[in-house]
Amino acid sequence: MKKLSTQLTLSIIVIILVIVSLISLVSNLMLNRQFERYISVQQKERASEITESLSLYYNSFTRIWNLDSIHALGMHSLNEGYILSVYDNRDNKIWDAESHEMTLCLKVMEEISARMEQHGAEGAFTAYEYSIEQNGQKIGTAKISYYSPFFLSENDFSFLGSLNAIFIAVGLISILASLFIGELLARRITRPIVKTSDIAMQIAAGNYDIQFEGETKTRELRNLMLTINHLASALSRQEKFRKQLSADIAHELRTPLATLGTHLEAMTMQIWEPTPERLKSLHEEILRLSTIVADLERIERVEGENLMLNKAPVDLFELVRTVCVSFEGELRKKDLKFTLDGGASVINIDKDKISGVISNIMSNAVKYTPEHGEIRAYVQDSENNSIFIMEDTGIGIPQDELPHIFERFYRADKSRNRNTGGTGLGLAIVKAIVTAHGGTVDVQSGLNPGSRFIVTLPKHVS
Ligand code: ADP
Repeated sequence: MKKLSTQLTLSIIVIILVIVSLISLVSNLMLNRQFERYISVQQKERASEITESLSLYYNSFTRIWNLDSIHALGMHSLNEGYILSVYDNRDNKIWDAESHEMTLCLKVMEEISARMEQHGAEGAFTAYEYSIEQNGQKIGTAKISYYSPFFLSENDFSFLGSLNAIFIAVGLISILASLFIGELLARRITRPIVKTSDIAMQIAAGNYDIQFEGETKTRELRNLMLTINHLASALSRQEKFRKQLSADIAHELRTPLATLGTHLEAMTMQIWEPTPERLKSLHEEILRLSTIVADLERIERVEGENLMLNKAPVDLFELVRTVCVSFEGELRKKDLKFTLDGGASVINIDKDKISGVISNIMSNAVKYTPEHGEIRAYVQDSENNSIFIMEDTGIGIPQDELPHIFERFYRADKSRNRNTGGTGLGLAIVKAIVTAHGGTVDVQSGLNPGSRFIVTLPKHVS
């Protein structure tokens, strides 16, 4: 399989080569054609010039042609490739290059024909007649014969030659430049890709703490780098979460399982009587373990970024009312006064999950508020948020414990909690759900005036 950089270099070189060759070819062709057209026009003008000069060599008073000047002009023209013959008004030949310089004429004609054939031209020496005029009066005729439609002199050829040399030089320089640029561009494009693939391989090997630290100006490559970084940190978080959860579970289950084990062992070894109270206490311990397992299942679903939200617009006030109504029996049992204030606040949330949040906070309030106490719930609506507040007149949470109560398995003042039978997972689940909604959950508490939980859910999640 070919390397990406090689493929890119080759593609860039081929593209540049094709473009340079096309430009050279087309401009060379156009230049040649333009030059030939220019030469052809020049030659016609030169023939007219010769005719005009001839008109100066005739004296209309004496009716005599200045043969010396005509001879000089004729010879000069012959050297330029124009074969001249001059006739007077009565068609008498006055001067003729062929009869004066036969050999030179043939030599000039042969040289020009050979040169033009080499050039690939298909022309021939053609004679053109021009009338020689003085003050608007015809005084004679000039027959000028030259290689038509055009011919090139040695100088013209060397000019075209140097032009072609320039084109070839430009082409060669472009090839060298394309090799250089191709290699440079390919390396620039592939460097971040190669780096990304290295990092992806390291991630695959389990090194989640690696981060891509490079700069690229290409948007797609930047997105790829950001995605890889995001993937690495997500995997790293998952890994930490998994490890932490396993450690927490092990820690949490070790004590009750050890108690169960030693108590059952003592009973089977008949050191202990299996009295109904002891069996009941063991049964309660097993029930607590079952609750922990059930909560663990719940937390596994909501933490660790596996949470899928099924959002729909819901009136939070109505939702709080419905959830709290289900606590009626427990409220009555403890003679707790419950009030719900505020007003409608419609927000896009996962109804079941937020029900769980309300239920958890409400259940804690009921659990940690002694008989005859009071629980107050509020729903506040603002432009950007829906806010749910729940206050109780319960036992409160010590200040130093407040920062920890959202941690998994954390129970404030463990001794007093044994009776309530909590697992310490409820608020961790609450926090995970609220965070997944882009919201926040806060708690305020003094020891005796009770606790206050504030859940803020944003209406527009970025
Ligand atoms: P638990 O199942 O133990 O209630 P949570 O995660 O729901 O676990 O709560 C963590 C701890 O926070 C509780 O053990 C309790 O000590 C404290 N807590 C929660 N809510 C209240 C409240 N309304 N009043 C007093 N303490 C509370």
